[in-house]
Amino acid sequence: MAFTVFKVAVAVVAFFCIYLSGTFIVRSFTHGPPAEPEIGRLRRVDYRYRCTVCGTEVTMTAAPEDDIPHAPRHCREDMVLVVEGGQY
Ligand SMILES: [Zn+2]
Repeated sequence: MAFTVFKVAVAVVAFFCIYLSGTFIVRSFTHGPPAEPEIGRLRRVDYRYRCTVCGTEVTMTAAPEDDIPHAPRHCREDMVLVVEGGQY
């Protein structure tokens, strides 16, 4: 009798372990993208980059407080900085 109770207890514990790990995995999938970067660490910039392959231009309006940010890529090539507006 005691052995049966023990088996049931083990089954219940195992069930909860599986249940909790399952919800943990599902929750990690549904959390979505990580938190937004702190706005305070971003500065307003006005860098314009051009794709050397197709000519597409993009304007970067915010960047971390570092130096000139890494150039974005387009057509699998680094875009070139054409206008450095700096801060505004
Ligand atoms: Zn391109």
